[in-house]
Amino acid sequence: MAKKGNRQDFRLKCTECSNINYSVERNVKNTTDKLELKKYCKHCRKSTVHKEIKKEKGKTS
Ligand SMILES: [Zn+2]
Repeated sequence: MAKKGNRQDFRLKCTECSNINYSVERNVKNTTDKLELKKYCKHCRKSTVHKEIKKEKGKTS
């Protein structure tokens, strides 16, 4: 039986157009910094900075 781990789902949102383009998993225990990645945004049609936001659907925690 798997205990609920420290891995949580996040979304990566483009800082320029605010579209959510990626989903990621992050181990919140090992990596406490917020993610900020340069990724390709198909809406901006270029690489932009994407910041993590928390997954909307809340599991009870
Ligand atoms: Zn964008």
